[in-house]
Amino acid sequence: MNPQTGAGLLITFEGVDGSGKSTQAALFAGRLEQEGVPLLALRDPGANAISERIRALLLDRALAEMSPWSELLLYEAARAQMTGQQIIPALAEGRMVVCDRYYDSTTAYQGYGRQLDLELVQQANRIGSCSLVPDVTFLIDVEMEVVRRRLSARASAADRMEAAGLDFQDRVRQGYLQLAAAAPERVYLIPGNRPIEQIQSHIWHLFINRFQRHLNRPGEENA
Ligand code: ADP
Repeated sequence: MNPQTGAGLLITFEGVDGSGKSTQAALFAGRLEQEGVPLLALRDPGANAISERIRALLLDRALAEMSPWSELLLYEAARAQMTGQQIIPALAEGRMVVCDRYYDSTTAYQGYGRQLDLELVQQANRIGSCSLVPDVTFLIDVEMEVVRRRLSARASAADRMEAAGLDFQDRVRQGYLQLAAAAPERVYLIPGNRPIEQIQSHIWHLFINRFQRHLNRPGEENA
């Protein structure tokens, strides 16, 4: 049970672009669905009309002059909308919420990547998330060389954040590693340079070990 809402769980997936987090978030949500768990799968920024419009601004390569503070606040604005409109109501109904990125992305990208003041970034994160804290976060970690290979194989052009360069992405990665080290009880570090199915199974086992009772299968409430 989510201690903040008394209901569903908030499960987030994090990692640098190309780490495979979206692949894993989708597979994880699919697995929960198979188990018959009521859930809501979202991506941050996005998932509703207002946040999707903000997302389009954030990723538009034509807007290269966007200041880092403006970028930070736009991410938080998109997140606040999604949190209020979708996450909090879903958790209150007892649904699991699977989120592809959440505020750890802002700490990693705007805090460590853009090198904004970390304390201010954390304050902004509290506003954007309405002070919600994920119940568990899976951080998919891969070396930059692997990311480079995967992204160059992608058909689509790089968006504004992906175009920020590999040094930037490496600072983001190091930021994520620090987050995981600072909160190991919440942020699980998942080695991502492995076959997709192996990573999926690793994540699922970690999740089940800790949250089995939330699946509410008949006869397993107290497992
Ligand atoms: P992200 O959401 O972190 O940007 P994606 O899940 O979109 O990453 O994956 C980026 C690319 O890497 C995609 O082409 C995807 O198919 C591929 N990919 C994802 N996970 C793996 C993996 N474990 N091994 C090899 N390729 C992967």
